[in-house]
Amino acid sequence: MSKHFETQAIRSQTERSQFSEHSTPLYLTSSFVFNDAEDMRSSFAEEKERNLYSRFTNPNTTEFVDKVVTMEGAESGYAFATGMSAIFTTFATLLNAGDHVVSCRSVFGSTHSMFTKFLPKWNIETSYFKVDEVDLVENLIQENTKILYIETPTNPAVDILDLELIGKIAKKHNLLFIVDNCFATPYIQQPIKFGADLVIHSATKLMDGQGRVLGGVTVGKKELMREIYLFARNTGPAMSPFNAWVLSKSLETLAIRVEKHSENALKVAQFLEENENVELVKYPFLKSHPQYKVAKKQMKLGGNIVAFEIKGGIEAGRTFLNNIKMCSLSANLGDTRTIVTHPSSTTHGRLSEEDRLEVGITDGLVRVSVGLENVEDIIEDIQQALNAK
Ligand SMILES: *Cc1c(COP(=O)(O)O)cnc(C)c1O
Repeated sequence: MSKHFETQAIRSQTERSQFSEHSTPLYLTSSFVFNDAEDMRSSFAEEKERNLYSRFTNPNTTEFVDKVVTMEGAESGYAFATGMSAIFTTFATLLNAGDHVVSCRSVFGSTHSMFTKFLPKWNIETSYFKVDEVDLVENLIQENTKILYIETPTNPAVDILDLELIGKIAKKHNLLFIVDNCFATPYIQQPIKFGADLVIHSATKLMDGQGRVLGGVTVGKKELMREIYLFARNTGPAMSPFNAWVLSKSLETLAIRVEKHSENALKVAQFLEENENVELVKYPFLKSHPQYKVAKKQMKLGGNIVAFEIKGGIEAGRTFLNNIKMCSLSANLGDTRTIVTHPSSTTHGRLSEEDRLEVGITDGLVRVSVGLENVEDIIEDIQQALNAK
């Protein structure tokens, strides 16, 4: 088997059925049958590797997971109904009451809610550091700290955290290092190379890439994944076989899509840097990005998310959204269709200004998830909306 990323994404599939189909069929079945009592006994005793029930495994979810495991350079994995169920189940498996988490403050909104509203129900507290406070991480580590958690690039401000540096801190203090790699995808960056024990994805975003299905996946060390599998198998957050079938197909085009997304995003970022209505542009592969060197070290490409600061604050942000003609106003990202959001008046509108600034959300911040339309059309739409008064 060839080692190249694209080839493995396309050529690895479950075994063909008796019909010799070329494309993997959809195994839409809740359970699997046994020949006799002994077959059933030995299967449940895990003496043989086979599918029993689709809450545990299913050929479609296995194909999807195996592809992500290969892409991330992991040992094992499990597929979940959503990105959030992957994140929650991973934490719920690995943490005991009274444990402590250290995380960057710039995490996905629902992950922040999990840390601040739900894990405290089990007496699990989280200490945050800001993206520019990596030198303070060691001060936050306590006797009961179990997990060090980050996302990079961050949402929505597109800051970059140094995976190698944070991986070393985790190792030194014997913490589990867990990375949400959703914004980068394994085509751009593989956190396991920098010491991550587990990598989590919302497959809903660039892995699907066409805005159709929800999904999540956790991959990493075998012994940790075994614990997560047993927890998930009994608590039920499994991905549906249909979604796994869609996502396995999507992974076949991940590399070529991410290449084009990144090429378009860089052009959009360069255009914005020259525009007089724009105060500041954040894109990992622009030289002006504060963590440009780190981005270049750990990322193959800049990804598809561009953040920029529009002159004129909240009102200018709202005017910009109201004048967008082609791009979508939507909460998703990583779609073929370019999506623009104005976090301070929408997704993060309920946070206090202080809380918003902690995650880099200034009043005029606009996030663009650059799609696969012709980049000239994307730029034309953004340009006319920037000019509108
Ligand atoms: C969307 C997203 C999630 C949550 O994924 P869902 O599939 O919506 O549950 C988690 N982390 C990041 C970085 C995301 O963008």
